[in-house]
Amino acid sequence: YVKAKYKFKPKFYSTQVEYKPIRSILVANRGEIAVRVFRACNELGIKSVAIYSKEDRAHIHRLKADESYLVGEGLAPVQAYLSVPDIIRICQDHHIDAVHPGYGFLSERHDFAQAIVDAGLRFIGPNPKVVQQMGDKVAAREAAVAAGVAVVPGTDGPVTTKEEAKEFCIKHGLPVIFKAAYGGGGRGMRVVRKMEEVEENFQRASSEALSAFGNGAMFIEKFIERPRHIEVQLLGDKAGNVVHLYERDCSVQRRHQKVVEIAPAPKLDIKIRDKMTEAAVKLAKYVGYENAGTVEFLCDDTGNFYFIEVNARLQVEHTVTEEITGVDLVQSQIRIAEGMTLPELGLSQHEIHPNGFAIQCRVTTEDPAKNFQPDTGRIEVFRSGEGMGIRLDGASAFAGAIISPYYDSLLVKVIAHSKDLQSSCAKMNRALREFRVRGVKTNIPFLLNVLENQKFLNGSVDTYFIDENPDLFK
Ligand code: ADP
Repeated sequence: YVKAKYKFKPKFYSTQVEYKPIRSILVANRGEIAVRVFRACNELGIKSVAIYSKEDRAHIHRLKADESYLVGEGLAPVQAYLSVPDIIRICQDHHIDAVHPGYGFLSERHDFAQAIVDAGLRFIGPNPKVVQQMGDKVAAREAAVAAGVAVVPGTDGPVTTKEEAKEFCIKHGLPVIFKAAYGGGGRGMRVVRKMEEVEENFQRASSEALSAFGNGAMFIEKFIERPRHIEVQLLGDKAGNVVHLYERDCSVQRRHQKVVEIAPAPKLDIKIRDKMTEAAVKLAKYVGYENAGTVEFLCDDTGNFYFIEVNARLQVEHTVTEEITGVDLVQSQIRIAEGMTLPELGLSQHEIHPNGFAIQCRVTTEDPAKNFQPDTGRIEVFRSGEGMGIRLDGASAFAGAIISPYYDSLLVKVIAHSKDLQSSCAKMNRALREFRVRGVKTNIPFLLNVLENQKFLNGSVDTYFIDENPDLFK
């Protein structure tokens, strides 16, 4: 591909913050998100650097960067990308200025952020202390309470014994949800509806959390019935400015994991939106949040909303926000890390406006007919949906690509943008129907069922939607 000739040189230097240009960025990740960051680097005239595991030596993300280096030699596929000393060695050997963590892998590990800073490199994200505070869901809750943001009623701190768990349930009533303090990605959670199941479930959840996240600390929240998951995208700079870029609705979930995301949230009362974005900005200012981040809320049907967590990183669904605001979030992250302020970037709150509706479908190599079991193998035929209003973010989708069992099953993110929800859905539907994928199974038939569901088209679904509609699996 052709490297962008255009180099953006900021005209205004901040008076409060030192501006230090970044000349090269290593992305400590793989797949589509690595490519997403490389694209931003290429457009800004910044050298992009990939790392790859032995298993990924033929993967496309490697070829989309200016340079690429083998990481974690001798380690298992996922472990290779978690090899902090090796990543730092690569940065030092090749004079790299900054590291972007993407999502997943090391992106929420404060010790990684700290190791980057200690090595004299720049971490493209919040400062390591904030990463730590937000990564610990109990500490994040405490910060929200201190900032005056409503949280789901829950335990004040971590709960370590089944007796304490039972006590909470008796006092606050059922249902409740047990959550791993260091959990993520929809894992480490258990809903409990019967008193006799409290103790056993607590024990199980805690030992699961210990093996999955290396820490068995749990906390308990009241389970909100029929919530919508709505989250606010934020950007903060080094001068302490924070803006929001409106919200996304991520209520379409399977096993607490997002499948389809929409920006802005359909049919959200404007007063509630204002309160929610205000609460998110307040929390971010309170903790000194810098760079891109998301504050997640659950909304009940009476218009109350409750903080659940902060994701101190770029999210999979950042694309829909980019589409409706026209703001490149990854370029913004890089500029902020260089020391530019939001006003210098043209990102004061009054300059950010939502336009239309954007929707993202996560196309995965999973077979809906087999309970979404990941499918692997060689893609024999690949043709994608394209055309007006369609954006594709991917890295592993082409004829001849090998889908390995080692990493997550995201094949390509399809994003549709149009003037309203219905026309975005129509575009998405049309684009998904243009896809031809042979050799591996995908969840496209399932996504089409979602897009044709009347409730979904009306913009009135909550997090129970998939569970309550077995028709979607046909
Ligand atoms: P993770 O970090 O694993 O993504 P979250 O705390 O963001 O976990 O929760 C993921 C999803 O789980 C939410 O979007 C929601 O559907 C469900 N959930 C979490 N907490 C509650 C709660 N207190 N009541 C009802 N549903 C919840």
